Amino acid sequence: MSSKVTELQETTTSIQQPATRGTLFVVSSPSGGGKGTLIRRVLEVVGNLSYSVSYTTRGPRPTEINGREYFFVDRAEFEEMVAGGEFLEWACVHGNYYGTSKRQIAEKTAAGIDIVLEVDVQGAASVRQLLMDSVSVFILPPSYQVLKDRLCARGTDTPESLDLRMRNAPEELRQYSSFDYVIINDEIERAVAQLASIIYAERARCVRQEGLVRKVMEEFRSAEIKNSINGQS
Ligand code: 5GP
Repeated sequence: MSSKVTELQETTTSIQQPATRGTLFVVSSPSGGGKGTLIRRVLEVVGNLSYSVSYTTRGPRPTEINGREYFFVDRAEFEEMVAGGEFLEWACVHGNYYGTSKRQIAEKTAAGIDIVLEVDVQGAASVRQLLMDSVSVFILPPSYQVLKDRLCARGTDTPESLDLRMRNAPEELRQYSSFDYVIINDEIERAVAQLASIIYAERARCVRQEGLVRKVMEEFRSAEIKNSINGQS
């Protein structure tokens, strides 16, 4: 854990609990952009933050566990969920279907927990339209070659899938300006600190602190009334 992130975590732990509904942090990047590692690290250092586990028709990679990275379902199950209105958003990405569970989001945000959604650019656009108070972050790879090297090093994609992901990357990159923030993922520690900082800053917005502020204001108002009754100034 970097010292910058630790410092941020320590100074904000007591004040970062939202008194209102949780916020959605939507994180996108081209495949291989490093958002998975980045999100895992941020979940370790930022409190009161949860991860939305998507449903997908893609087959699991050797290291993936059902219910941890994704819920792996077949096409028929996925279509049934679409028909049942179970997804907040869903999209076909690189030939497979992916969807965000409405129930997971509703339960966690109602409990005041913030959620990170790892979705493609189509999913990010859908969430932005549906939920105006969500926050979107685009993770940009530092170069074409770095993206290619990362995808190859991952060793989880067939040559066809790798080729498709690289071919789709330029169009995905073009959409970066629709996002609220962009992080260039050239150095993981810096990128983790930046994403954590965005979350902390967004939590500190006046609109997200209204519940807490109101409570403090009421205390001041009660003290004011009490003092005026007692004839104090
Ligand atoms: P991968 O197959 O590499 O895990 O994911 C492929 C792409 O699908 C990534 O860009 C990932 O962010 C995106 N993705 C994962 N879950 C969802 C989801 O629930 N909705 C959408 N729209 N995209 C998703």
